[in-house]
Amino acid sequence: MGKIIAIVNQKGGVGKTTTSINLAAAFARMKRKVLLIDLDPQGNATVGSGIGKADFTVSAKNLLLNETKLNEAVIKTQGGYDLIPTTHELIVAEVQLMQAAQRELRLKTILDVAEDQYDYFLIDCPPSLSILTVNALAAAHSVLIPIQCEYYALEGLTALLNTIEQIQTTINPTLHIEGLLRTMFDGRNRLAVDVSAQLMQHFPGRVYRTVIPRNVRLAEAPSHGLPIIQYDGKSLGAVSYLALASEMLEGVSDISKESSKKAWLRSRINKISDIFN
Ligand code: ATP
Ligand code: MG
Repeated sequence: MGKIIAIVNQKGGVGKTTTSINLAAAFARMKRKVLLIDLDPQGNATVGSGIGKADFTVSAKNLLLNETKLNEAVIKTQGGYDLIPTTHELIVAEVQLMQAAQRELRLKTILDVAEDQYDYFLIDCPPSLSILTVNALAAAHSVLIPIQCEYYALEGLTALLNTIEQIQTTINPTLHIEGLLRTMFDGRNRLAVDVSAQLMQHFPGRVYRTVIPRNVRLAEAPSHGLPIIQYDGKSLGAVSYLALASEMLEGVSDISKESSKKAWLRSRINKISDIFN
């Protein structure tokens, strides 16, 4: 049975799409079968995966409106993962869904019967708590929350956690937090370090050890339609997303309980070099 992970944060520009694309590619590199679902009308995960409008005729919009089957909407990407692409027309689905029966459960119904086809389903969500995000939260087993460690980060997190709680008490009781991912991290920035410490204090065992640093190669890769592993496999961004995938395969561990941080880092680096060799 595949694992369905929604990549969610209603705050814009925190690294949801960058994480979706590069985690999908990192899992694929680790021989996992991955389906990335672009559930954001901005379509950034589609374009960033090297897929243009001319490459597909059906998209997430048709899927959510029951106009097509999952397999008919799937396309292969150069990153080694499959993709359900999206255009801005997804907004049409969003509006039509508002009047539909069981509107929160469309994606869940579609993925329920496809769970055996992939090891991982990653859902890139829009920067809002809209019906699209609710569909992702209803369908998902867990939520990965990218967080940029800055002043307003924790404030937004409370609203998101409330929404997750509401979904748990209504349509998806087993939904849980997969992990909190610190993105665009700059360890020289005092505020980032403070916010990071607060996250670890409030969510012990739920913050990934792996940190995604601010890395210009990560920002460049989407304009080439490639995940970072294909664009610049030796960059810090590529190594970080491979480290995240490897950490996720093992589950998040509580940093404070680890006996030796250095030993952990060493084992991680060894694993990543195995993947490249
Ligand atoms: P939205 O809420 O609009 O969907 P998002 O949360 O999906 O945004 P991204 O699109 O992944 O965020 O990232 C926002 C911008 O920051 C993009 O231009 C992206 O290339 C850049 N970016 C993301 N992560 C990094 C990083 N680690 N280092 C440098 N740039 C990054
Ligand atoms: Mg995005």
